[in-house]
Amino acid sequence: MVNPFKIAVIPGDGIGPEVIAEGVKVLKYIQSVDESVSFEFEYFPWGCEYYVEHGKMMDDDGIERLKQFDAIYLGAVGYPGVPDHISLWDLLLRIRKSFDQYVNVRPIKLLNGAPTVLKDVTPEDINMLVIRENSEGEYAGAGDRLFQGKPHEVALQTGVFSRKGTERIIRYAFDIAQKEKRSLTSISKANALNYSMVFWDEVFEEVSKDYPDVETHSYLVDAASMFFVMDPKRFEVVVTSNLFGDIITDLGAGITGGMGLAAGANLNPERDFPSMFEPIHGSAPDIAGKQIANPLATLWSASQMLEFFGQNEWAEKVLSLIEKMLVDKTVLTPDLGGTASTSEVGDHMVQLLKQL
Ligand code: ATP
Ligand code: MG
Repeated sequence: MVNPFKIAVIPGDGIGPEVIAEGVKVLKYIQSVDESVSFEFEYFPWGCEYYVEHGKMMDDDGIERLKQFDAIYLGAVGYPGVPDHISLWDLLLRIRKSFDQYVNVRPIKLLNGAPTVLKDVTPEDINMLVIRENSEGEYAGAGDRLFQGKPHEVALQTGVFSRKGTERIIRYAFDIAQKEKRSLTSISKANALNYSMVFWDEVFEEVSKDYPDVETHSYLVDAASMFFVMDPKRFEVVVTSNLFGDIITDLGAGITGGMGLAAGANLNPERDFPSMFEPIHGSAPDIAGKQIANPLATLWSASQMLEFFGQNEWAEKVLSLIEKMLVDKTVLTPDLGGTASTSEVGDHMVQLLKQL
């Protein structure tokens, strides 16, 4: 018996349970045919529905219970009627912060067969890996509301950029760029954010001295946004702050086939705590319960999880079969122009794995 990878499954709300079911289906198939791979799943019913019943997004000892897992596989949280900042802070951000998942990895990669709104681009033109700072920065939660209700009311939101936090994310990105022999682009905004982003640029410059073999570039976030659209092949590995990374990766999703194809990993690289894998999209209440949600983003995040577990062959197989499904166009959900249901896409992935 091999040691199982312990996975905490949080299907969440809306389309979350529908897409997560397909990811778990594929992982279960893999363990059924590969004796050297074993997973242990435990489900947690947390999310907004749980909040409506219990007044909290997750149990009080939730973080303690999740600690023993290797990974968390999350669908989506969000529910009409529960304010977004509650669902975000009480579950997602709490997990990210408690487990020091300070690296957010989002592949911005145009797969063969994927629709793109850009003209005249090929998969070779869009193949980047965005490394987003995931623990502090603009989302540190620091600030205040002063003089509430008064005409001179002021809201403050403070970005927090520690040396430790800034350096470790930049170093992580340099390590990847060096390993993959690709260039590294830092995206910041030092002309306008005269404390935090000046500091960011300084740290990037300092750390770059330890990686003389890595080609580096630096862009302002506004210019980078334009070039993501007009000339995306400039970018290979990209490192950026929490807010800029959030925005620019959705822009990236927009040019590589949309939300149904965007995956992300929240990593604690030291592996002191579990890492978390999730599709980027939300709970999409408008299409929930209809079995029309696209599970490919969730399958892509399963591929990221397999890679994190060191199962690189399986990770590549899953990703290449997502690509094959996009090229074949026979079994796709309506958002990609097909007529298949969510579970038919998962079943088809299992069929394709069987045929390998
Ligand atoms: P939340 O409030 O949890 O973020 P949301 O409705 O904002 O939920 P988004 O992920 O932002 O959800 O998605 C916006 C829209 O994109 C959805 O309303 C849905 O129509 C579409 N969409 C998102 N994910 C998928 C998917 N996996 N398959 C098909 N369509 C999707
Ligand atoms: Mg949303």
